[in-house]
Amino acid sequence: MNIIDGNKIAKDIIEDLKNEVGQLPNGRPTVAFIRVGEDPASISYVRKKQKTAEAIGIHAELTVLPESISQEELFAVIETYNKNDAVNGILIQAPLPKHIDETATFNQVDPRKDVDGFHTLNIGKLCQEDASGFVACTPAGIVELIKRSQIETEGKHVVVLGRSQIVGKPATLLMVRKGTPGNATVTVCHSRTQNLADITRQADILIAAIGKAHFVTKEMVKPGASIIDVGINRIPDATKKSGTRLVGDVDFDAVSPLCEHITPVPGGVGPMTVAMLMQNTLKAFKAMNS
Ligand code: NDP
Repeated sequence: MNIIDGNKIAKDIIEDLKNEVGQLPNGRPTVAFIRVGEDPASISYVRKKQKTAEAIGIHAELTVLPESISQEELFAVIETYNKNDAVNGILIQAPLPKHIDETATFNQVDPRKDVDGFHTLNIGKLCQEDASGFVACTPAGIVELIKRSQIETEGKHVVVLGRSQIVGKPATLLMVRKGTPGNATVTVCHSRTQNLADITRQADILIAAIGKAHFVTKEMVKPGASIIDVGINRIPDATKKSGTRLVGDVDFDAVSPLCEHITPVPGGVGPMTVAMLMQNTLKAFKAMNS
């Protein structure tokens, strides 16, 4: 059993990006973060992204907007960044307040600066296997983990648990596309799937992205499978100072002895998401300066 070290892989990618940014002949990339409201998780995610950007040499700007902001006012802020040639990437931290339409907001970002890969145009490019688009950071990170762990996907049965716009669907497209990693036979499961365990037991590679702690048990896994656990769930834990701890969608202790490869939570997919955001920002900078 091989526990995939997402922290180490992300660190290697960040080091490579730092070297590349340091050698850019024409300035350095800029990413603009927009955070709406004071959600503690969003504050912490944006801080982590800012810190990583600065460590690489990517200039990071942050705009914090009040929870009460109207959609029109938010769009006006996005438009300012769209028009600013010095800004290469724009990231709007989700979740947004309920009165704001998230899809419309993501589509307001100039697709050339859509480093989150959520714009309809970039999702379309992913469907068409057009490499000029931006791929959403978490699925891009999953692919990178699979690639760097030398997990064969060609002809394999990949089962994706979850069909969200930001993880399940793009991960499905990436696994089915022509290429390496890719060329897999993919089954997508969701809350209406019947006989779920019968399907997951057929998986050579199982990508779990449903947001339910310890959902995947050992009875649901084929011995020798590789498992990518995307879930981030907080559960009570009296032994911790905070009274809680983070776990994935997979019952790691029970499932890991059966697996060929498995990602831990934390320290698996999570750090890769931030690394891929930085990679996308450098890609946007290069495209704008070529
Ligand atoms: P969503 O809530 O948007 O989607 C969850 C998906 O799981 C849906 O497709 C849903 O089905 C499906 N699902 C829910 N319950 C079941 C069930 N009992 N059986 C089968 N399918 C089910 O979640 P996200 O995709 O945004 O996130 C998934 C997890 O990944 C979360 O824990 C999240 O925190 C984590 N995450 C981690 C990231 C990282 O950087 N590591 C980044 C993004 C997310 P249906 O469509 O029918 O409702």
